[in-house]
Amino acid sequence: MSVSKGFEKTYKETEKLGCQCIQIFVKNPRSWKRKKLKSEEIVTFRKLFSSLPVFSHLSYLPNLAKGSFKDISAFFEEIELSLELGIDCIVVHCGSRSDKEEGLIQVANALNEALKVFRINILIENSAGYKNSIGATLEEIARIFDKVIKKEYVKVCLDTAHLFQAGIDIRRFEVWDRLIEYSNQILGKGKIGLIHLNDSKTDLGSRVDRHWHIGRGKIGQETFRWILNDPRINDLCAVLETPEMGKMDHENMKMVRSLLLPLVSHSLS
Ligand SMILES: [Zn+2]
Repeated sequence: MSVSKGFEKTYKETEKLGCQCIQIFVKNPRSWKRKKLKSEEIVTFRKLFSSLPVFSHLSYLPNLAKGSFKDISAFFEEIELSLELGIDCIVVHCGSRSDKEEGLIQVANALNEALKVFRINILIENSAGYKNSIGATLEEIARIFDKVIKKEYVKVCLDTAHLFQAGIDIRRFEVWDRLIEYSNQILGKGKIGLIHLNDSKTDLGSRVDRHWHIGRGKIGQETFRWILNDPRINDLCAVLETPEMGKMDHENMKMVRSLLLPLVSHSLS
């Protein structure tokens, strides 16, 4: 959800769409410029969103795998902004680095440093695998998990478009089925914390991160039907990061709802 026109507007839009959870950027995701929240804004946000799970998403510029002072202080700043608003979950991309080993170490360091200072839940998002990006496989994410000290604060955010772009053919039910089983094995049970529900504009294994409208992309409708109804993950929050925000959100929400099967009432049997 956009917050660029103020939190009241965000809330109205949230209500209109009937969202049960949302994700926001706490600052302009394409700028290094620091942001300061006004105390009225903080009060408004906390009041409006007190009963709705809100996730923040780290902006695009900090590269945790690089781990420079600039990257880490930007990461810390966004955690601070999130906590000010009462948001206790932040989604991060691992970033990229040509030396993958060093990249994994730097990401884990960034998380460890953050968790020394802040009480926040961090969700590591899988990447599409473009060039030297880190975190396109569950194995890499598991290796970061291994190096994290306060493990209870770290989970994974599975992005369906990125899985597909990274070459995991989730259009095949058995692939999806095994993926969830495998994540329980390699990351630990209950370590999937959030789903980014996106179709893909690019082909399987393209490594190019382009999100698309649910059911209209290369992944397609049927896959989302079983993802949305998978009992192993259907108590989790899922957020759409589909294009044309504000225009196509309603269409995408409608599609998602049409794919959700009604809960079976056992009292009738
Ligand atoms: Zn995502």
